[in-house]
Amino acid sequence: MKILIAEDNLVSRRLLRTHLEKWGYKVLCVCNGEEALELLQQEDAPKLAILDWMMPKMDGVEVCRQIRTRNNNSYVYIILFTAKEGDKNLIEAMNAGADDFISKSASRDELKARLRAGKRILALEEKLFSNQEKLRSEAMHDQLTGLLNHAAILDLLDRELDRAKRDGTFLSVAMADLDHFKHVNDTNGHLSGDIVLREAANRISRSVRLYDAVGRYGGEEFLIVMPGCEEKAGLAVAERILHGMCEKPCALPNAIVPVTVSIGVAAMNFEDSEAGAESMLRSADLALYQAKSSGRNRVVAAKDLEETLDNAIPQKHMDGCRFSQGRFR
Ligand code: GH3
Ligand code: MG
Ligand code: MG
Ligand code: MG
Repeated sequence: MKILIAEDNLVSRRLLRTHLEKWGYKVLCVCNGEEALELLQQEDAPKLAILDWMMPKMDGVEVCRQIRTRNNNSYVYIILFTAKEGDKNLIEAMNAGADDFISKSASRDELKARLRAGKRILALEEKLFSNQEKLRSEAMHDQLTGLLNHAAILDLLDRELDRAKRDGTFLSVAMADLDHFKHVNDTNGHLSGDIVLREAANRISRSVRLYDAVGRYGGEEFLIVMPGCEEKAGLAVAERILHGMCEKPCALPNAIVPVTVSIGVAAMNFEDSEAGAESMLRSADLALYQAKSSGRNRVVAAKDLEETLDNAIPQKHMDGCRFSQGRFR
């Protein structure tokens, strides 16, 4: 474990360093408060710091205050090390954000024990942080496929749309729905259906570019967000997904089933300044609907659809559609 010592007195600094190294710590030394602050804000900075109170440029208490007011990702455990004694000083140090306070006249054993206490707190903090990260990740991902879930992929779409508008770049989305998936469940059972869903999710993920995002939008429906893609590029990605899906059948414990997908692709419309996630999803959904009704296992572009919309989807089909959560169902 790395520890920072900030102490302007050479003798005291050397003594501390010798003890700490003997106890197995890796030690970094600085001799004023400004250097300490700078070092503690670097990536991979020590998580435990022993700060002298009286130092040139910035005193230890001020370093403490600055560290606590900046919203750093990881916690630094700070021990104020000083010749000052008495309640008043201890309270001032604690109020500035110090975790502990140790007198320069304290014994080696006391220092050793206080460092151990600091290590315990840091270990707890690390555990808390990793549990939080785990929960955050679980809340964003679909359990079955490991893809982003409905809410997370929509959040990402909103953010990417804002970015595309701000930077004047393109964005496309693809709505993909497995074909006749109910039949897989009906003939092989739901557990086999789950295997197919997982395999389909893997195949989609393998077909997209590194910076595209894939989410499970609903049951057997996937939403792919493609930043920087104008419609042509979005269609190319969708075609890759289509071929990646049907290239080989999916092996189940007791059967081998073919898997195909229908995909609707919509690109961001720069002429429509109000264009938002909802209208893009609606367009991609209509294109998907057209891909289904024209035979499945194909990609349809929303733009082509707009041009032939009047003839392509007879009104009797649209009558049965219900707009829900920004989509037709
Ligand atoms: P289409 O080609 O028109 O899309 O037909 P389809 O059979 O794929 O569509 P439909 O909407 O009729 O059926 C979707 C099925 O997906 C029904 C539902 O039970 C199944 N499904 C949804 N979520 C899951 C899941 O998590 N696991 C399994 N095994 N099946 C699921
Ligand atoms: Mg000093
Ligand atoms: Mg569906
Ligand atoms: Mg389906």
